[in-house]
Amino acid sequence: MNALVHLTHDCNLRCPYCFTGAKFAKEMTVDTAQRTAEFVVDYAKEHGQRAVFSFFGGEPMMAWPVMREMVLHAERVAAERGVTAIFRMNTNGLLIKEEHLAFFEEHDLIFILSIDGNQAMHDAERITQGGQGSFAALAAKLPRFLEHNPGMMASVVVTPTNVAHAADGIAFLFDAGFRFLIIKPDVTQAWSPEHVAELERQYTRVGEDYLARMRRGDDLYLNLFDDKWIAHTKGAEGISIRCDVGSSQISVAPSGNLYPCVRWVKEEEDTVPRLGDVWQGLLADKLADIRAQAAAPKSPCGDCSYNDGRCANECACEHYSATGRIDTPAPALCEHERVMVPIADRIGNALWREQNPVFLRKLYPRLTQIRTREGASG
Ligand code: SF4
Ligand code: SF4
Repeated sequence: MNALVHLTHDCNLRCPYCFTGAKFAKEMTVDTAQRTAEFVVDYAKEHGQRAVFSFFGGEPMMAWPVMREMVLHAERVAAERGVTAIFRMNTNGLLIKEEHLAFFEEHDLIFILSIDGNQAMHDAERITQGGQGSFAALAAKLPRFLEHNPGMMASVVVTPTNVAHAADGIAFLFDAGFRFLIIKPDVTQAWSPEHVAELERQYTRVGEDYLARMRRGDDLYLNLFDDKWIAHTKGAEGISIRCDVGSSQISVAPSGNLYPCVRWVKEEEDTVPRLGDVWQGLLADKLADIRAQAAAPKSPCGDCSYNDGRCANECACEHYSATGRIDTPAPALCEHERVMVPIADRIGNALWREQNPVFLRKLYPRLTQIRTREGASG
């Protein structure tokens, strides 16, 4: 089970696009944290899975003592039950200090950093309570973070407000040393035709830059392209970071309530489906209902030629946030994918024609092995 554990509703930033709801001081108690650890480990044991704890918020580092206690308790319980416990975190990074990095190292806790590209892009959205940009403070920490974990993943949100900086922002992150980037558009906002045209200009530049980097031999991951290539060669199930609503992934709110997704924890309103709590366990009928709705064909995707795994239209909770329906993608998502898929196809075709070694190694590892063997024997 991958448990997305919301340790607090509070955050030190106030990003306007934030989908985790109002920010207020409500932390998970140590009691609830310990019970959550036991619930997740027991569920994992029962289903023959690993117990993955992904700390979330708000900003999880605002509840650092609770996180620390939960990691230690989960390790103890997992050892007793013979289950593997794994720890992850999504963070804005601003509160992480040396002592935390030492703990992460010791307990193999890997974090994904939320950073929206370069200063112009990041500061357009990722602001403090006083409305100041947070880039300078974060940029000062980047070299140490990348030294701590050279494979650190960056999570970037593209919005109508920051889209004009997207190409420079993404290039900045690769130049800074990131090798793995996840770019997500904010599709809960309306994108005007001008914004969509700008998105196309920016993504065209991102594609040219990615092509140049792969021709230089850089082995990188950018979900915008790689996930579409993986979907083409291996099918959607080959993509590792995809919506898994109500299946192996469950969100735990600071109260201990269970929800299908991080987007539905919010202030724990009654308007979203609750799946039980860490004391009573999962409500099987509600879980089955959510799974069935998430698996239903998407409307209006029908026979759209991009509906073959290349379109990132699988996130049921994102659809629900944007349209109020699990089975209906936001118009902005559809526009984004109609821009993105042709660019990914064009770059992928160019790399295939050139028989680019990085591309072949990533997408066609067996072909690369055969050619290497043939080369060695010939
Ligand atoms: S840092 Fe994350 S949790 Fe905090 S306001 Fe921004 S998006 Fe929301
Ligand atoms: S491009 Fe639009 S219609 Fe086509 S599969 Fe994606 S969301 Fe559905």
